[in-house]
Amino acid sequence: MSKARDKHQERRQNLSQFGKDLVRRCGAHCELCNTSGVALSIYEVPPVAVEPQYEHCLMICDTCNTQIERPKRLDPNHWRCLGTTMWSEVAAAKVTAIVILNHLAKKESWAQELLEQAYLEPEETEWVALWTM
Ligand SMILES: [Zn+2]
Repeated sequence: MSKARDKHQERRQNLSQFGKDLVRRCGAHCELCNTSGVALSIYEVPPVAVEPQYEHCLMICDTCNTQIERPKRLDPNHWRCLGTTMWSEVAAAKVTAIVILNHLAKKESWAQELLEQAYLEPEETEWVALWTM
């Protein structure tokens, strides 16, 4: 087995220790778009540290996952939900919402309007600055 694959497996294992707590936190809803009844998987919000951190993990659906991985293909209509997500008590969800809105705001005026209402704690502002989509 290659070293890279070992690393990947090790990370999966480390992440799975958060599984139960994440499942409880998200209540079987995608933590970004709030969809339920679909498969959710763990997404690590950048910047990803060497050791996986619970606070950086989100349980999200495949639709959200695919779009975050390919920001150029973001579907604005899917992300109207961010008007709610940006008030999430989960900092990682809130930060992700703001990063996506920042990206969408280049073209979408509704995203711009939401950003004007957003409120971030100083440490959340720093986190957003570390992640450019
Ligand atoms: Zn989702």
